[in-house]
Amino acid sequence: METPKNPTSVNHRIREGLSRVAMAIRADDWNRAKTSGLNPTQLAILELLEGRKDGLSVKEIAANLGVSQPTATDSIAALERKGFLDKRSAGSDKRGVNVGITPEGFSVLEAGRSSTGVAEQSVEALAEDEQEDLLITLVKLISHLQEIDAIPIQRMCASCRYFAPFAHSDAAKPHHCHFVDAAFGQRDIRIDCREHETADPSFRAATWNVFTQG
Ligand code: SF4
Repeated sequence: METPKNPTSVNHRIREGLSRVAMAIRADDWNRAKTSGLNPTQLAILELLEGRKDGLSVKEIAANLGVSQPTATDSIAALERKGFLDKRSAGSDKRGVNVGITPEGFSVLEAGRSSTGVAEQSVEALAEDEQEDLLITLVKLISHLQEIDAIPIQRMCASCRYFAPFAHSDAAKPHHCHFVDAAFGQRDIRIDCREHETADPSFRAATWNVFTQG
């Protein structure tokens, strides 16, 4: 049994903490989905497809959401019936079929964003430097999950071919985004950027070294 003299490992306790935060996020997702007449999986699919003009395949959607392909297929079919998704060709692969978000799907997504959930409210209660530290820690956790193939590559700056970490001496805006050709700060690091383009593995590794060593 855990006592003050005999705590469980810090790894275990951090996981317990993340699990409690995840509970609040799930409750927020249920509330937002209900407002939009969707379930949380359907809402997550619309969020995943936002800004991806070529859409994604069912297999990619299932992998990104961590659900089975039959579950993803059922939710996609329901969203298509509502007119929130449509089928489109898979980029350069003319034989492949992807699923993409329609303007109606985008509208329902925007309408559900009118209120701030309890998870975001708890982040707002942190000091600015605490928010920044948390953001960078999350980027590191997500990067590790990507590297061990536990999750697909996310649209984060750290894996983007436009990212130049610590390219500037300005401590407030040390990073550079070559997509918009502008400097930006640590707290502007993106977790899910629409303009993200995945860098090749050697570029990612070099960028990551610079980013983490500051
Ligand atoms: S395009 Fe987006 S993900 Fe890439 S460096 Fe710029 S802000 Fe970051």
